[in-house]
Amino acid sequence: NALGRLGLRTLTYYMGTGLLAVLTGLLMVNLFTPGIIEGAPAGDRLGLSADTESVLAKVGGSKATDLADFFLRMIPTNIFQAAANGELLGIIFFSLLFGYFITQIPGTLQGTQKRFWSGAHDVMVGITNLLMRFAPYGVFGLVAKVIAITGWDSVRPLGLFFLCVLAGLLLHSLVTLSLLLKFVAKVSPLRHLRRMGTVLLTAFSTSSSSATLPITIREVEQQSGVSKRVSGFVVPLGATVNMDGTALYECAAAMFIAQAYGLELGYAQQFMIVVIALLSSVGVAGVPSASLVAIAIILGAVGLPLEGVGLILAVDRVLDMCRTAVNVYSDTCGASVIARLEGEALQPNAPEVASKA
Ligand code: ASP
Repeated sequence: NALGRLGLRTLTYYMGTGLLAVLTGLLMVNLFTPGIIEGAPAGDRLGLSADTESVLAKVGGSKATDLADFFLRMIPTNIFQAAANGELLGIIFFSLLFGYFITQIPGTLQGTQKRFWSGAHDVMVGITNLLMRFAPYGVFGLVAKVIAITGWDSVRPLGLFFLCVLAGLLLHSLVTLSLLLKFVAKVSPLRHLRRMGTVLLTAFSTSSSSATLPITIREVEQQSGVSKRVSGFVVPLGATVNMDGTALYECAAAMFIAQAYGLELGYAQQFMIVVIALLSSVGVAGVPSASLVAIAIILGAVGLPLEGVGLILAVDRVLDMCRTAVNVYSDTCGASVIARLEGEALQPNAPEVASKA
């Protein structure tokens, strides 16, 4: 049926672009190796305290040595045990299944489930917001410690990491998404970019896909001429599910931290990072700094110390603005791509509409 087809196309677009984004991030950190300065891991420069040997032992012990094992661990035999042991891959997989089957049960029960879980979600967001109020002091302490111990040496790896992520984000939005716009949606990428100026600026300045949502919907309808039927489905879903910038960033951050500890991650482990970055970007809320939680999850899954997150806090703020803009931009491209696939006539040549604020 029509709704199922729309859903399938949307999901394919989200997963496809998400995967491309993660791979772009992976490529960037492997190419520029921001965590390795002059041939040596940047851990010392960054004042990391956990020593490589103990980390190495833990990573080795995380058992993700081959792909078959990876898939086996995806399906927990006991979900409570998985939760208690922090086996996040299994938890994510279970949650996806659970969420899907909530949509398959009858109306009243489904309503109860949805209300319960969205309440639980709001409670967790409330707690997170409370904790995040302490973040500025934490960042101050961490950065001050690093600078006090290593001086300005630490600036180089962090600066390189910053540039790596920025380059990846630009590559994804200006090349990958532009190609999709040009060849699938058949609209001029440049014009689309110009038309989405307000959306991008809002996303950039709020660092929140959710806060940008009303503007995204309005602009996608008014500027690109996407129907309400498509925009009303694709854009709100995309604001929480489709986070290309976040997925790219999570992967790049985990790899950077691994490099800084001097770890050579094998293919199986890199594959695991890619999958978790992709899946957890789906679960990340569209609010500022939400990916930090997901990065902690990835580090935990690979066996890296959480201390690594502290490392990137110093550059997180600005990168959050950039990756949120990419998250939202991908939603707008998705709306055009899917509208076109649904046979809609977009407005490729119409003059830009002055957006009403
Ligand atoms: N701030 C991002 C967003 O709202 C999420 C994140 O990557 O932290 O899209």
